This record gives sequence, C-alpha cells and structure tokens, in this order.
Amino acid sequence: MKSYNNLYINGQWTQPVKGQTFPAIDPSDETVIAEVGAATAEDVDAAVKAAREAFDHGPWPRMSGKERAGYLRRIAEGIRARVNDLAMLEVRDNGKPLPEAVWDIEDTAGCFDFYANLAERSDEQPERTIELSMDGFVSKAIKEPVGVVAAITPWNFPMLMASWKVAPAIAAGCTIVLKPSEVTSLTALELADICQEAGLPAGVVNIVTGMGPEAGAPLSEHPLVDKIAFTGSVPTGSRLMKCAAQDIKNISLELGGKSPLIIFDDCDLEAAVEWLMFGIFWNKGEVCSATSRVLVQENLYPRLLERLVEETRKLKIGNGMEDGVLLGPLVNAAQYEKVTQAIEDGKKAGATLLYGGTRPEGLDRGYYLDPAIFVDVPVDNDLWKEEVFGPVVAIRSFSTEEEAVSVANDSEYGLAGAVMSKDLERCERVARNLKAGIIWINCSQPTFVEAPWGGYKKSGIGRELGEWGYENYLETKQITSYVTDKPWGWFIK
Ligand code: NAD
Repeated sequence: MKSYNNLYINGQWTQPVKGQTFPAIDPSDETVIAEVGAATAEDVDAAVKAAREAFDHGPWPRMSGKERAGYLRRIAEGIRARVNDLAMLEVRDNGKPLPEAVWDIEDTAGCFDFYANLAERSDEQPERTIELSMDGFVSKAIKEPVGVVAAITPWNFPMLMASWKVAPAIAAGCTIVLKPSEVTSLTALELADICQEAGLPAGVVNIVTGMGPEAGAPLSEHPLVDKIAFTGSVPTGSRLMKCAAQDIKNISLELGGKSPLIIFDDCDLEAAVEWLMFGIFWNKGEVCSATSRVLVQENLYPRLLERLVEETRKLKIGNGMEDGVLLGPLVNAAQYEKVTQAIEDGKKAGATLLYGGTRPEGLDRGYYLDPAIFVDVPVDNDLWKEEVFGPVVAIRSFSTEEEAVSVANDSEYGLAGAVMSKDLERCERVARNLKAGIIWINCSQPTFVEAPWGGYKKSGIGRELGEWGYENYLETKQITSYVTDKPWGWFIK
C-alpha cells in the first residue's frame, strides 16, 4: 500500500512537524493497512496560514466563476479516472460493500461537477439591484466568498462528505483546510493528489490528517479561520459551536439523527420492507439520516415483521470486497463496542430483540454484526431515543396518523423522516407535519446533490448541497451610492 504519512499543505506534501503517525485499520480483518500522518497545532497553523495567504493574496477568490469551474471539472475528471481504486480504498478503510463505495465515489465526482456549474452560473448574475424606498440612492447586493474554511468530517462516507464541503467552498472562491476523520483518512489524501494534478493553486485546498483534540481543535480555534463547516456527532458539534461563539465565526453543522419512518397499513408491503431495510442497513446503518425508528400501523405490524425477518435473514454479511455482500463490518473496534453495548442496554431496559444483534457465525475476525431488529420498543428506551449508528432498528406499532406524527416528532433530533402510504395526500400532510429537514415519501435515504441537506433541532444548523450548500460559503455585501447632486443638508444647511 502506498504511503499516507504526509500532510498536504500549500500545494506540497510535508511531514508532520512532530513526525507522528497513527494506524489505518481494515475493519474486515483488523489489520493495519497504512500509517497516517498525525498533525498537531504547528501543522494546522501552517495549513491555515497557507489558506489565508491563498485567500488574501492568491488568484483564487479573484478568478471568475468560469475559471474556477475549470479546476473543479478537472478534479471531477481525476476522481472519475480512478473510481475503482478509490472505491476499493474506501472499502478497506471503512468496510462498506464495494458497490456502495463505487456509488459514493461517483457521487463525489458529481458533487465537483455540480458546483463547477454553480460557480460558472454565478458569473451571469454578479449583483442584484435593490429597490429602495428613498430617492437619491442606488443600492445593490453582491456575493463574496466567506474566506478561509476549516472543514471537519466524519468517517461514514469519507470522500463524499469531504466533497460536500470542499467542492462548494472552493467553487465559491474560499480556500479550505480539511481535517478528515482519523478513522478513515485515506481517500481525503487521494483527493489532495487529485487537486495537485488538477493544477489547483497552492494553498486553496490543504489536507491535514489527525486526531480530533490534537488537529481538529486547533483548526477550529485558529484565529485566521473565517468559517467552520462540520459534519459529525452532536457533542463535537456543540463544542465547535462554543468555539465559534468565542470569535463569532460563521459555522454550519451537520449532526446526528434518530429519524422516523412511518408505515401506514395501506402501503405496498414489499416496498415498505425494502425501504425499511435500505433505510437502516445500507452503509451498515452508519448513516446520519438512517430511519432507525420505525412506526408501523397496527393492522400491518405482524405481517411486516414477518417479511422483514425473512428478508434480513437472507442478507449476505462479509468483507465488502466479496461479491453479493450487502453488509460489511462496522467501521472500527470502538464503533463495534458502542453498537453492541447499545443492544445490550436496550435489552436490559425492556426492548424485545426479534432478530440478530450478535456476531455472525464463521466471522471471527473483523467487526461484523448481524443486523438487530427490536420490536415493541418503549418510547423511553434509549434504542428509541438515541442514535446508535449501526444496523440496529427500533420498531413499534401505532394506531392513528396523529399518534404516529406525535411520537415521530417527540425527539431531540430533526434530521430526516419518511412516510409510506398509497394515500399521497396523507403522505404530503405527514411530510409537512414532521419536524425535520429532509422528508422522503414512499422511500428512505435517496440523496441528491441538487437538493438541500440538513437538520432541525439538535441535528444541525445550515444546509449543505444544492444552491443552499453554495450559499453556505458566501457573504452578502450591500453597496449603496448617493447619486444626486442635491446636498444631503442634515448638518450643513
Ligand atoms: P465525531 O464528532 O466523533 O467526529 C467527527 C470529526 O470531528 C472527526 O474528524 C473528528 O476527528 C473531529 N473531532 C473530534 N473531536 C474534535 C474536537 N474536539 N475539535 C475538533 N474536531 C474534533 O463524529 P464521527 O463519529 O466521526 O461521525 C459520526 C457522527 O456524524 C454521527 O453522529 C452522525 O450522525 C454524524 N453525521 C452527520 C451527517 C449529516 O449530514 N448530518 C453526515 C454524516 C455523519
């Protein structure tokens, strides 16, 4: 395996100042696949200063959108040229099945293309005239890049989550320092290579690998950073918000969730079972928007559980590189411990385990887990309330629409929600009544670069993707001119 122990700062590969590394571990067999550079405050300082210099004095923010779009398209091409290698690297680093990894990498390239188009389009409308209520003035609003962005990302969709920040930020004219999760750093370092090949000016994209407290904290606290863009857990998001409050930094947060799926008894049963499974077993349930709380209308409840167990039993669990595998290992030992502990605690607190929740037979090495199906889960059980971030679903029955919506909304989170019914008017009504940023009707999870992504309540602040994701990296400036020869005449008559 190639070496991943350097950091990408100011267009160059450099060793971490303290020379430290940490291991990248393949979750399918617990072997070390690479040593990764561990950045500390000095490295982060160098990366932020490079981004600051590139923003304050470099060509990047001064280019037209069309020029920047050219670079983004070259990055997209660079990603597409090595989709298979990048996908295989993601499988080894994260454990996800190969077809899912291929999908992620193709979406990563698509994200750069999408923001290339938006950057180009921004040239067509560089300013907006504002109608004023007073004569003698003309006013316009222009958009400017926010500045230096500190981007901190999680491990569940490593390269894709990086692209959701890097692509819109640089398209808008910002410069960026990205710190990927220490659990899955490898594809971010490949992205650095691709940016270098695309000829991106030095300092526009800087990538520092390392631990949260040693690399992430100095990055978010750095006084030369203008904006923090974070995806990860609620506790870290809360810490970053306090840090942003200190210096009044712009911040956007994409955090956790405990998203409900409401299944009415008039739905297509087979489709409901398929989307229920996709909503919680795709990417091993390590998905922020996973529909991990399921409400099933009472008439359908027994039949749906029966079909769900039948289909779940058939899922092939194994190394993500093997043909037909739909569920890979959990990402690392810590996550395995966390998920299995949540299962044990849930059982002790009175939830009924209908299926799975143990290590599959014959898979003794690696962080493998049979998906767990809990039924009749009390609403005060942690399995119903807290994000598990694994293939663990909590199900309960309901009788009326009002009850379902009220139970669904009784959560600290508000990232996503889903509803399944043949009655489309009802679906629309439920969609509008659910308190969450993303709602799916008769499906769960499909995500599109064109559509806004983000949560209500503790699930975050701001939106990524689409034009909303682009706006995230822009400031709005008002320019107003006094355009009459008539003296103002307030102090001097
Ligand atoms: P995490 O909060 O533990 O880590 C996320 C990132 O923050 C990592 O890069 C980590 O090194 C860094 N970090 C940790 N401590 C830090 C500190 N003190 N200062 C600065 N940075 C620090 O989260 P995770 O376990 O990597 O990811 C899982 C979480 O992410 C889940 O809660 C999931 O729901 C959420 N997530 C949300 C979305 C979304 O779009 N809303 C998408 C993916 C994941």
